Amino acid sequence: MIKKIAIMTSGGDSPGMNAAVRAAVRTAVTEGIEIYGINRGYSGLLDEDFSKMDYSSVGGIMERGGTVLRSSRCKEFQLKPTRENAVDILKEHEFDGLIVVGGDGSLTGAHLLNEEFDFPVVGIPGSIDNDIGYTDTCIGVDTCLNTCMENIQKLKDTASSHERAFIVEVMGRGSGYIALCSGIATGAEAVIIPEIPVDYDKLTDKLWHERQRGKINCIIVVAEGAASAYTVARHIEHRIGYDTRITILGHVQRGGSPTAYDRLLASRMGYEAVKAFQDNDTDVMISLISGRMERVPLGDVLANKKGLDPKLIEMIKILS
Ligand code: ADP
Repeated sequence: MIKKIAIMTSGGDSPGMNAAVRAAVRTAVTEGIEIYGINRGYSGLLDEDFSKMDYSSVGGIMERGGTVLRSSRCKEFQLKPTRENAVDILKEHEFDGLIVVGGDGSLTGAHLLNEEFDFPVVGIPGSIDNDIGYTDTCIGVDTCLNTCMENIQKLKDTASSHERAFIVEVMGRGSGYIALCSGIATGAEAVIIPEIPVDYDKLTDKLWHERQRGKINCIIVVAEGAASAYTVARHIEHRIGYDTRITILGHVQRGGSPTAYDRLLASRMGYEAVKAFQDNDTDVMISLISGRMERVPLGDVLANKKGLDPKLIEMIKILS
């Protein structure tokens, strides 16, 4: 029987992580399981930075952006002796299991604790990039896309007033998901993503023809991993006849109060993570698959990073 578990948020923060922590804590407490929050991800685990959580300690956190447990990047966790030390610490404190909320790096760390030292873990996908396999989406994706949409929409207003082109750089080092989806949602003229090599001649021809047909604004959304907004501007500015401006959305994309969708998703995942421990179903990630909460082996999740849906790529060609 499971008596005492810990929960941490790790890696890149994403809006909604607090709702997952709140749900896990309240479910655990209701089920008579002691639960501790580990502050600052794997770094805090190594520093034994734990705090006992109860029903009221997670009150009022769901609506907050960021993560109240805070997060960190802990490079040394990639070394096996460090992970062994972490498991020793968890055992010394008599934890029966660990919930890790984070992206694929954090979930890799969690999986290794199980694989190498047989320590029970359950993962929850928190990542704005939506690049984790075997789940339809991750905590934070919806809030991030809404933030991008609202900001790009505002730029579109001023772009029309001044007949300008705006090149908007959004997050996504290895994945064009945020750029592609926020481009579709705002009717951007073009999207530049790492998955598809950009042909600047073709792009500028298209923009130039649209300009000739009377279009008074132009929004190009660029994923940071595809090209810098400055490079794109240099390639197209003199050829399309627009006054060009650059906006780098940056870390606003990680912040903000989570949307209803992310709050609900995270709450379901936090609840389900505790249930998984009770069922002895560990070394799994809690996933959303076709609307249902599922438990997928972490090994499978990590071996199958999610790529972009080719249909979305086809769509943007038609809709932009
Ligand atoms: P994310 O979880 O958002 O993908 P990172 O990739 O930065 O963010 O990973 C967060 C943390 O997870 C790292 O700082 C490290 O402590 C741990 N981690 C990442 N990759 C590994 C790995 N291959 N092995 C063990 N731990 C890892």
